[in-house]
Amino acid sequence: MAQSALDVVVVGSCNTDFLSYAPHLPKEGETLTGSKFETGCGGKGANQCVAAGKLGAKTAMITKIGDDIFGLEFLKSFKANNVKCDHIGVVKGVSTGVAAISVADNGANCIIIVPGANNSLTTEDVEAAEETIKSSKVLVCQNEISLDVTLAALKLARKQTVKCIFNPAPAQAGLHSDFFTIPDIFCVNETEAEIMTGSVVNSVESAIAACKILVENKNCRSVVITLGSNGCVYQAKKGDEPMHIGTDKVFAVDTTGAGDSFIGSLAFFMCKFPHLSMAEMLKRANKIAARSVTKRGTQVSFPTASELPADLY
Ligand code: ATP
Repeated sequence: MAQSALDVVVVGSCNTDFLSYAPHLPKEGETLTGSKFETGCGGKGANQCVAAGKLGAKTAMITKIGDDIFGLEFLKSFKANNVKCDHIGVVKGVSTGVAAISVADNGANCIIIVPGANNSLTTEDVEAAEETIKSSKVLVCQNEISLDVTLAALKLARKQTVKCIFNPAPAQAGLHSDFFTIPDIFCVNETEAEIMTGSVVNSVESAIAACKILVENKNCRSVVITLGSNGCVYQAKKGDEPMHIGTDKVFAVDTTGAGDSFIGSLAFFMCKFPHLSMAEMLKRANKIAARSVTKRGTQVSFPTASELPADLY
């Protein structure tokens, strides 16, 4: 069998994060003086791709950026993190996607995302990247680009027997049934699981119940629900009992991007350690995401291969 040229391909978003820290979130019309400002490359697509790339996966990103300094920063960041950029389109006269994030001292946040160039990614761009998708082991998609584009990518991967992980984040109610049935792994957090199933998800037990709804009623092939410090639950297929996979107790300083670290790591293990059981891959993805929450920032908090203990690599 021909060797895959790539490990992980992501069809998804790039958003520059503008983070302002302030004592509290502003009320309507209020002007506040903040304490700190940071920028960084973000967006769920870029984050998950970089998370896998930092661990040593050969990755590629299929996305659109604007012809501005933020787009250039993404290209630099991808190149530094093992991500191929052949299918990154630069859109003239359009801004790179941005996320204006306000964070209060108590950890509360509010976010305005302006998709910018992300909205210019089309199904034709996915078709043009068919060879790249075909030559990858795992495709990862999220919900920050057009649903049509994501569906085109998932269908292409399914046709080519490329494994696909779909992370429908941010969650949208009323997704077409194909989004549930096509991906090999449907991976959501508690909030997303709640929106997708209509039942409250706030514990291991309720996540197990939601897993069953997604697999048995919505016909997902397999489901992972991430549970923050509680790790995750996983149901492999119809009729199986979901399992809970706990994680390390850590002192969390910043959980932003934990879900992206988890998904990028899972994609990495699926490509590089395919002999491992899914439970073992999820255990390792949990441990890597737990390490990421012990550091501030998003992509900078994702560990590299050299930072991992031998039992994780
Ligand atoms: P975010 O939106 O902040 O990126 P999320 O809500 O998508 O995250 P979570 O379920 O909070 O995702 O976390 C994803 C994974 O990260 C968890 O399954 C777990 O492995 C790890 N994780 C998150 N928070 C913690 C924590 N406090 N301690 C240990 N591990 C954590």
